[in-house]
Amino acid sequence: MVLPVSHSGSMVSVQLKPTFKCLILDRDGVIIRDVDHLTKIEQVEILPGAADRIAAVNLMGIPVVVATNQSIVGRGMCTNEDVQAVNTYIATELAKMGAFIDFFVWCPHTPEDNCYCRKPKPGLLYRIANKLKLDLRECLMIGDAVTDKKAAIACRCPFVMVGKGGLAEWDLSTGKTRDR
Ligand SMILES: [Zn+2]
Repeated sequence: MVLPVSHSGSMVSVQLKPTFKCLILDRDGVIIRDVDHLTKIEQVEILPGAADRIAAVNLMGIPVVVATNQSIVGRGMCTNEDVQAVNTYIATELAKMGAFIDFFVWCPHTPEDNCYCRKPKPGLLYRIANKLKLDLRECLMIGDAVTDKKAAIACRCPFVMVGKGGLAEWDLSTGKTRDR
């Protein structure tokens, strides 16, 4: 990206041009801290910086959607309604910080179910694309796992990998991750 320079030679503010039509985020490890078997809202901890990144994308008028594997449903540890309650709680907490999630999609199946929606399969991403009538090649996915990356590759969706810091590692101005 070329930064515009004013006549005085100093930097002027950069108006970011959206380079993607939808931001698709993994949930656990990207927006909230990844804990084993998260079934209750008391276990939710929004990662620092996540709300800021989402809010910035909101300001560009780009939808932000979450795609998450929740095999805890298939394993009988909680219900789809429990997952929905956790998602609603996350959305509410983010909204308090000015960040808005358009909707969540999740896979409730276990690996043994061999479904088409559990990442690394791309079914969840296609569900998003169908709902928003978007081409996944023009979207952006951010995840913290190889399974996220494989799902994105399977449908040619551009992908950014983040580490332990989650979404805060994503630098919106460069589109890449810091310190990597
Ligand atoms: Zn599934």
